[in-house]
Amino acid sequence: MDLCDLEKYNVDWYTQVRGCSAIVLKPKTTEEVSQILSFCDKNRLAVCPQGGNTSVVGGSVPVFDEIIVSTELMNEIISLDETSGILVCQAGCILENLNNYLADRGLIVPLDLGCKGTCHIGGNVSTNAGGMRLLRYGNMHGNVIGLEAVKANGEVIDCLNTLKKDNTGYHLKHLFIGSEGSLGFITKIALHCPPRSKSRNVALLGLQDFDKVLRTFRKAQAQLGEILSAVDVMDSVTMDFIEDKNHQQSPIGSHPFHLLIETSGSNEVHDSEKVNNFLDDVINSNLISNGTMASEPSKIEAIWSIRENVSNGYKKCGAVFYYDVSLPIEHYYSLVDDMRNHMGDKCERVFGYGHLGDSNLHLQIEMKEYRKELKDYVEPYIFKRTAELKGSISAEHGMGFIKGKYLNLAKPASSIALMRELKKILDPNGILNPYKIFPSH
Ligand SMILES: Cc1cc2nc3c(=O)[nH]c(=O)nc-3n(C[C@H](O)[C@H](O)[C@H](O)COP(=O)(O)OP(=O)(O)OC[C@H]3O[C@@H](n4cnc5c(N)ncnc54)[C@H](O)[C@@H]3O)c2cc1C
Repeated sequence: MDLCDLEKYNVDWYTQVRGCSAIVLKPKTTEEVSQILSFCDKNRLAVCPQGGNTSVVGGSVPVFDEIIVSTELMNEIISLDETSGILVCQAGCILENLNNYLADRGLIVPLDLGCKGTCHIGGNVSTNAGGMRLLRYGNMHGNVIGLEAVKANGEVIDCLNTLKKDNTGYHLKHLFIGSEGSLGFITKIALHCPPRSKSRNVALLGLQDFDKVLRTFRKAQAQLGEILSAVDVMDSVTMDFIEDKNHQQSPIGSHPFHLLIETSGSNEVHDSEKVNNFLDDVINSNLISNGTMASEPSKIEAIWSIRENVSNGYKKCGAVFYYDVSLPIEHYYSLVDDMRNHMGDKCERVFGYGHLGDSNLHLQIEMKEYRKELKDYVEPYIFKRTAELKGSISAEHGMGFIKGKYLNLAKPASSIALMRELKKILDPNGILNPYKIFPSH
């Protein structure tokens, strides 16, 4: 491997964090991971577990010269029980590949992210990733039935249960889900994969204000019930950004807010009737100004691509500061207004979009160029304000290297102390993903 090859493992997706590791190891089996960690632990060598390297909080790249252990070659599907829907695979399977494999068998991965073609299922589990299907299927804590992980000292912890019901002692798998590679290295996963919906509808609606967005969302919950599978929102500045950077236009013209509502179910006639009744109601209640609906897969993908491609625009900007927070629903959009007031003319634009159905806001600040003093002006403000509004400073991306220093705004001191105790028990020499999650002081 030459230095150019090393670069892609040392730099994160948005090129905001860069390490300088000279070693990338690519084990193929759990035994090889175990040998690597055992050696590193004995020799006090720090390790950075890496999946698809799509972390947006600097979790997946080394901070200094930690040894990168990549799951790139751990990509075997081990088994699928088509009746229970339980898939067992290695941690390095790419999310989209798993989904394609399941599609042929009438099943679906209960997770969908914009970077599905790159991220690994092990990375998804390690970050407790959310994404587009969380409203319907819940998070990884609910969908991971079992897993296998390797402790820092090389010991293999076998929690690779494939039964939905198993209340025999502590549910240790939860220690590894969402702990961002700080407590162990996940090697295998048993995932519950539900049946693929036969009928899918997507409505893209234009609305005049955020109050109407919330009222429409409430009606969608009440009237679409069990078939409601995603509710995402984009403000008008997001839509301008998409048009400028991605040259994609809304098929329904410009509106202060766009709401994307998806249903997935098993009966086309039943689902369309529900969706049509819902649309009649929101039109008659003067909640929406315009809208379009799609049931054909190609049209559905075209609508989703508007939303999913927002992040492609970042690489075409001078710089974007990117925040992923969740807020009590009544404060969901006020944080965007607060940030606009805070920034004044210090940036190009502030915009907000995200998984409204999960109260998850992606707040972006676009600038002509990266300036550290601006970052120092934005970050304490946004994280403090989110904490004041009783939100979470990381809804779905984790803490990584970037957010670690703000952990005390997210968790009480007693919880942080317990987290540190757990870390000490599982990784006493602190070799696994050091400098991540926790404040460094
Ligand atoms: C365009 C784009 C869209 C995104 N959309 C979403 C979204 O909708 N929802 C969402 O939640 N996130 C999203 N993300 C963030 C990111 O994709 C997720 O956090 C994803 O789960 C990371 O998977 P990965 O395989 O790339 O892991 P990596 O980025 O490689 O690693 C993430 C973290 O997990 C650790 N890790 C990785 N593999 C293992 C392992 N086998 N064992 C132990 N630790 C491990 C790493 O050390 C790191 O701390 C998005 C990112 C991009 C770039």
